[in-house]
Amino acid sequence: MAAQSPPAPAESLLAPGISLGLARHRAATVHDVRYDLSLDLTARDSATGRVILRFRRTGTDGAVLDFRGRRLLHALANGRSLPAGAARNGHVLVPAVLLGEGENALELEFVADIAPSGASIIRTHDPTDGADYLYTLLVPADANQLFPCFDQPDLKARVRLTLTAPAAWSVVANGAAVSSDTAGDNVTSRFAETEPISTYLIGFAAGPWHRVSPTGGGRPITAYVRRSRAGEADLDTLIALHRRALDWMEGYFGRPYPFGKFDFVLAPAFPFGGMEHPGAVFYSEERFVFREPPTLPRRLARFSTVLHEVAHQWFGDLVTMRWFDDLWLKEGFATFMAAKALADLDPTAEAWKTFYLGNKPGAYAVDQTAGTRPLWQELANLDQAKSNYGAIVYNKAPSVLKQLEYLVGDSVFRSGIRAFLAQHAFGNATWRDLLAAIGRAAGRPLTGFGRDFMRRPGMPVAEQRLAVKDGRIARLSLAQRPALALSGPGPWTERVEVLLAYRDRPAVRLPVELGGALTEVTEARGRPAPEFVFANAGDYGYLLLLLDSASVRALEAGALTRTDDALLRAMLWGALWDQVRASRMTPERFVRLALAQLPAERDEQIVPVMLARLDRVVRAYLGPDPRARVQGEVEAMLWQGAADTARAYDLRKAYLDGFIGLATSSAGVAALDSLLSADSAAGAPLRAPTRWDIVTRLLELGAPTAQDRFTEQQRRDSTADGRRLAFIAAAGRPSGETKRDYFTRYFADSSLNEEWASGSLGPFNALEHQALSLPWLRPALDSLPFIQAHRRIFFLETWLAAFLRGQTGDSALRVTRRYLADHPRLPEDLRRKVLQHMDELERTVRIRRP
Ligand SMILES: [Zn+2]
Repeated sequence: MAAQSPPAPAESLLAPGISLGLARHRAATVHDVRYDLSLDLTARDSATGRVILRFRRTGTDGAVLDFRGRRLLHALANGRSLPAGAARNGHVLVPAVLLGEGENALELEFVADIAPSGASIIRTHDPTDGADYLYTLLVPADANQLFPCFDQPDLKARVRLTLTAPAAWSVVANGAAVSSDTAGDNVTSRFAETEPISTYLIGFAAGPWHRVSPTGGGRPITAYVRRSRAGEADLDTLIALHRRALDWMEGYFGRPYPFGKFDFVLAPAFPFGGMEHPGAVFYSEERFVFREPPTLPRRLARFSTVLHEVAHQWFGDLVTMRWFDDLWLKEGFATFMAAKALADLDPTAEAWKTFYLGNKPGAYAVDQTAGTRPLWQELANLDQAKSNYGAIVYNKAPSVLKQLEYLVGDSVFRSGIRAFLAQHAFGNATWRDLLAAIGRAAGRPLTGFGRDFMRRPGMPVAEQRLAVKDGRIARLSLAQRPALALSGPGPWTERVEVLLAYRDRPAVRLPVELGGALTEVTEARGRPAPEFVFANAGDYGYLLLLLDSASVRALEAGALTRTDDALLRAMLWGALWDQVRASRMTPERFVRLALAQLPAERDEQIVPVMLARLDRVVRAYLGPDPRARVQGEVEAMLWQGAADTARAYDLRKAYLDGFIGLATSSAGVAALDSLLSADSAAGAPLRAPTRWDIVTRLLELGAPTAQDRFTEQQRRDSTADGRRLAFIAAAGRPSGETKRDYFTRYFADSSLNEEWASGSLGPFNALEHQALSLPWLRPALDSLPFIQAHRRIFFLETWLAAFLRGQTGDSALRVTRRYLADHPRLPEDLRRKVLQHMDELERTVRIRRP
């Protein structure tokens, strides 16, 4: 006879997903969690597993586990079977009566899916040698799709993995491999128990990997890549970069690398740039293996990703956000620390220019939209955590940290960070804990900073106002307003550096504390009239800066090209671009500026960014008539840039890419086609990725030679990557049938992996295909809830961006607005994502209006 049970957890805690209520309840009642997890990976479509979950509890409640895997086979709590119906709504309920004082042991057997997409274990098939590779990706809340667990970041657990795989495979996991047993064709490998880690950070990979572990001196690191790419991957270089990254972080944080060992895997078709699993970082093979000579931005992007994931070992893995509402904390820090490290490790890289180009435009583009959110993003249920990813956490957060460091000073900032890590090591923390630690180090509270930058959505716009009299500054002021009404009234308090640039004397930099609707730069008064003013020199401020008209004119007249400081020049180009997006400069005027001054720009990082903006202006912002007036001139400038032997390869390649993207005139298309017959372009042999880019454009443009070129390129490049690129290129065929076929496959083809699908969205939505793709806009919007539920974090953003940036007309805007109007109860996170991406379409329509 059963004893009378104490009350079970409230029914609301058992709702689908992992509610904040459930997480809080468990954090208060569950302690000292350990998982002993065994998985058999020898079947193709599923893994059978067993987990022994040990924990202590406070109080007398039952326990709620999370499990969304294929099937629960068997479950025991302290040796006794769970009652029928214990598994429901993605949870497993363990009645209180089966739990006791001291340590409890649950034993569960289960089946989890293995699939190219939509499963916690991703399988990718290599067509060149027929091999299969498996890896996990459990962030933000998919660990419970793999095995029954307490799937929340603040129930950290020690994890011991045991993996059974074919004998020819290697396996890598968070802990070091400690033993292996061969039985028949299979090997069972056991891994060391980890330090306490969050469930989303559990990771393993299995397959016939090529492995490299350099012998000799240096920190032991093993790198993994699939066999067919082993010849192309520069693993020794990558290992050396990781060693430098780990050494630098240990020095800055004043703490040794916190986990037992460090390895990394270049994972095929990986849907992220990287994932920071402690001890087993995974990277996108596509971004890490270069098939043609990498340009500087590509090399820097790769090193920055390494630094980002290594920084996560401390920020994210050692100290973890309590809940995904503070996702910004780990992402902001990883990117900010990566820039600091890069600035130190490679002074020639001009890391803060890279940081500006990589973060600010992206952050400002989203933070000015009605879909923006604060850095701290309220989150009621982990099943919506995917929506918290995006420019706010990845780009605004590091920008805000840059402002914070400038505000308190480098050494205070570092002391605060070290104290924060010491206090919360192997635990969890919130943004309040961080600001408290830095505030203590600074000797002043940071409550105002928290209010402005953690809790408040949106951003300030600052407008320069300059009055000159008799050759001297009569008045310089900065007028501040919120970019959006949703931020609420009132100014942000920030520290910026105001630059007065002169043609005939050194520039003057004035530190200014912004506050109030109007800030007077009193220090500027009476100084000689500058050639131009730039009120965010050094990029310390987080604000959209609108230049005064005299400064714009001076920059157009040549001051831009004469500016030596590349970070400043990058920001000036950016400010001029912002003039266009704010409808303060016509797109024609911007094209004229680019034609006149871009050829003189020799910065390898600025040029590709500006060429991408020029592409957007010409192909989207200009209507047909003004475009026809400049198309030939722009094509000529790009073609000459690619052919100019006086320029470095990186620049020529950027111009070549620009030409491939923009050429549409018949002469331009013929020139594109001729590149495929030539052996080289931009001064280097023409390699497969660029060939594919050209073929893709020829298909998009419906060029007469396109189909033959496509067939020829398929024959030339039959590698695994070649097949991917062929799939992507074919999405650019200008036919209704192609669009229908691809759109159907995005949902119906379970063998299609997300990386292929993401890649094809650009050609599917080529700007030249608006009439063909417009009918798919509404179905694309209608699919958002499905995508949110079944695709990985970044897919939804890529999807929305591709469909909305592929349109420039009123009709597309009407379709999007109608979709929002038809769904007044659309989940708020999805509505915001639509608003974020609709903003560019709205601007495009506004800018095009004659
Ligand atoms: Zn990250």
